[in-house]
Amino acid sequence: MKLSDLKPGQSATIVKILGHGAFRKRMIEMGFVKGRTVKNLLQAPLNDPVKYQIMDYEVSLRRSEAGLVEVTAASASVDSRDGASGQAKGGRAETHAPAQPGHEINVAFIGNPNCGKTSLFNVASGAREHTGNYSGVTVDAKAGHFNHGGYRFNIVDLPGTYSLTSYSPEELYVRRYLSDSCPDVIVNVVDGSNLERNLYLTTELIDMDRPMVIALNMYDELQNAGTQLDYATLGEMIGVPVVPTTARTGQGVDELFDTVIRVFEDSEESVRHIHVNLGQEIERSVRSINDALKADGHIPPLFSPRYIAIKLLEKDAEICRMVENSPHHEAILALRDAEIERLGRVFPDEDVASVIASEKYGFISGALRETMVKAKSDASSTTHLIDAVVTSRLFGFPVFLAIMTFIFWATFQIGSYPMEWIEGFVSWLGGVVGDYMPEGPLKDLVADGIIGGVGGVIVFLPNILILYFCISFMEDSGYMARAAFIMDKVMHRMGIHGKSFIPLVMGFGCNVPAIMASRAIESRSSRIITILINPFMSCSARLPIYVLMIGAFFPTHATLVFMSLYLMGIVVAVVTARLLRRFYFKVDETPFVMELPPYRIPTLKASLRHMWAKGEQYLRKMGGVILVASIVVWALNYFPLHDQQSSTPAEQALLDPDDSRINPEKDSYLEMMGKAVNPVMEPCGFHWRATVAAIAGVPAKEIVVSSLGVLYTGDETIPESKLSERIKAPSPVTGKPDFTAGSALAFMVFILLFCPCLATVVAVVRETGHWGYGVFSVVYNTVVAWIAAMMVYQVSLWF
Ligand code: GDP
Ligand code: MG
Repeated sequence: MKLSDLKPGQSATIVKILGHGAFRKRMIEMGFVKGRTVKNLLQAPLNDPVKYQIMDYEVSLRRSEAGLVEVTAASASVDSRDGASGQAKGGRAETHAPAQPGHEINVAFIGNPNCGKTSLFNVASGAREHTGNYSGVTVDAKAGHFNHGGYRFNIVDLPGTYSLTSYSPEELYVRRYLSDSCPDVIVNVVDGSNLERNLYLTTELIDMDRPMVIALNMYDELQNAGTQLDYATLGEMIGVPVVPTTARTGQGVDELFDTVIRVFEDSEESVRHIHVNLGQEIERSVRSINDALKADGHIPPLFSPRYIAIKLLEKDAEICRMVENSPHHEAILALRDAEIERLGRVFPDEDVASVIASEKYGFISGALRETMVKAKSDASSTTHLIDAVVTSRLFGFPVFLAIMTFIFWATFQIGSYPMEWIEGFVSWLGGVVGDYMPEGPLKDLVADGIIGGVGGVIVFLPNILILYFCISFMEDSGYMARAAFIMDKVMHRMGIHGKSFIPLVMGFGCNVPAIMASRAIESRSSRIITILINPFMSCSARLPIYVLMIGAFFPTHATLVFMSLYLMGIVVAVVTARLLRRFYFKVDETPFVMELPPYRIPTLKASLRHMWAKGEQYLRKMGGVILVASIVVWALNYFPLHDQQSSTPAEQALLDPDDSRINPEKDSYLEMMGKAVNPVMEPCGFHWRATVAAIAGVPAKEIVVSSLGVLYTGDETIPESKLSERIKAPSPVTGKPDFTAGSALAFMVFILLFCPCLATVVAVVRETGHWGYGVFSVVYNTVVAWIAAMMVYQVSLWF
């Protein structure tokens, strides 16, 4: 029977994991090993994926993947390996000479995703790194420093990993960090509410034989659940000191670092080097490879020989490469192959890696059986209760839609009040400048360039803050993981991941933080696809353009046109994702194994802190890109100066270059640029002013409307003062209006799709780690925009 055959509520015992490579490995690390009981808790509203319970946590699997797990429906099963409690080998740990003999200790935080590493890092170092009840928030290492107990601590927060093999980029990253930087003491952060799985990584660290302390985090949750854990005995059993901590309140953090100091000074009593016993047969193989490695002496001593031996048996690609440094590598690998073959005969229907994993899990449950007493009551019942509604077939989507609607409502409705205040302030400021500054270019610069440009954009700050407050709240509470769970099937059709959904939704606010939110997607190819299609989500900066154009040309079909534009963005995103998946990223490396963390009520402090972090980014963008761009657009439009020094840039812009009577000498630089590029844009129905506005939108799309404002200001022949009227008015030269309904539509489509704004391109480059993706984004999006706008315009000519 397959795991996917299990009905909600049913349990079964795992017999075997089919499939191979990364999927298999990940499943085993997550605790899907022979003899375990798994339970189908519920399925997503579209039947896929399914939420399973294994050990003490919940995980979401796609049906296709659950189909690769063979189970028997027997509910009561005895894990044959459970009894194999580890035999500790005596003797103190071999002392590692501290890397720096001075009063400095280098500490690395290592642990599963979502176990509270970053929270702990923040309380310890006073930093403000982003945390979230969502795995994969930290992607690279963050360093912090502080003094404690007479030492200076350099601590590093590493990405979350389930193990230390070379399958996912995070695992490789962490392992490379350990070998390259060789921290003095490792702090292994474990989630106390989910010990069994978290200790798997610990067993690998024990194999590595490095000085280590365990931070038993989420100790508050463990206590609240009524679980009793004799952590001191546990620590003695595994030879690693265990210190309970609650990162949320900072409890236990001082003791943790006191213990780190004792381990560093080699005065901690409970430190011993143990071998996690892998059973007679495996141990025999490990021993013979271990001996060969020790005799060799050519392999860089980055890891303990035991660890290398185990990883060789698991066929870890990077470790194999490391062994190839030795002139005897052929002999060692031959020995390894012989041992694998021998083990294959002993364990005919399991591969070595999964035997090792089962043994490790056996060791863990043995250790926990002796030290942990769980309360009878089901501690996670609140989570189950909430999930029964939030992810149910009937209510899942309605609840989800209601939450999304609420967020957008709050963003725009509640946000509109502070927005009015800021608008009032900006126009007051403009008035002050108008009244008190002497006439001249400087006044024009301040009034039109700076206040006009930046002021028009800063009004969105409240909306952004509210949007991010809501998003932080969803992230910290654990709902975000459920949203990804519900949407996974839909996203899978696009060749991406349920987790991609959140960044895409965030894109409707602003693409920059949305692209940064894509970090949570473990699979590299899914992550890059999500990043590349994000600019097609129509961000709020494009909204004013639609409002203007639709108000002018489609007042009777406003909603329809609005919806079609947003939809068009989504369709282009879907098509792009499918094309990328089909032709560029042919395989998705990391399977969809997503943890569904228990719900946690976020602290207001954390949510406000996240909100502010985003707000700060936005303000920086104001002060940076948008300020500079506004000044540049203004200057290009202002210079070269005309005869009448006093004429405003708006008046200059109005002097149509085609009309030699009015403007005998020069175009502004902006006009020259617009006219030079315009032939390219003519098939899309663009007049040069439209082209100029679009180009001006490259630094930030907000600038498109303000540029149109500058380009169509103050013509005395048109009494109407509204911009929407002015862009409809016939040009004094040609006698025809610059925009028709068709070209207005083409213009909106072009603005929707073309080259992402500068900040977004920077984000794409930074988050993908390669400038090539930034170039792709600019070129591809512009070409797509041109084709779409051209088609829209040409079709409109038929009517
Ligand atoms: P990381 O992925 O390991 O860096 O984990 P984070 O630091 O981002 O924390 C994950 C979640 O657990 C966040 O929602 C934290 O607020 C929460 N958290 C962290 N430490 C504790 C703790 O000691 N107790 C409780 N109750 N929650 C915690
Ligand atoms: Mg983190």
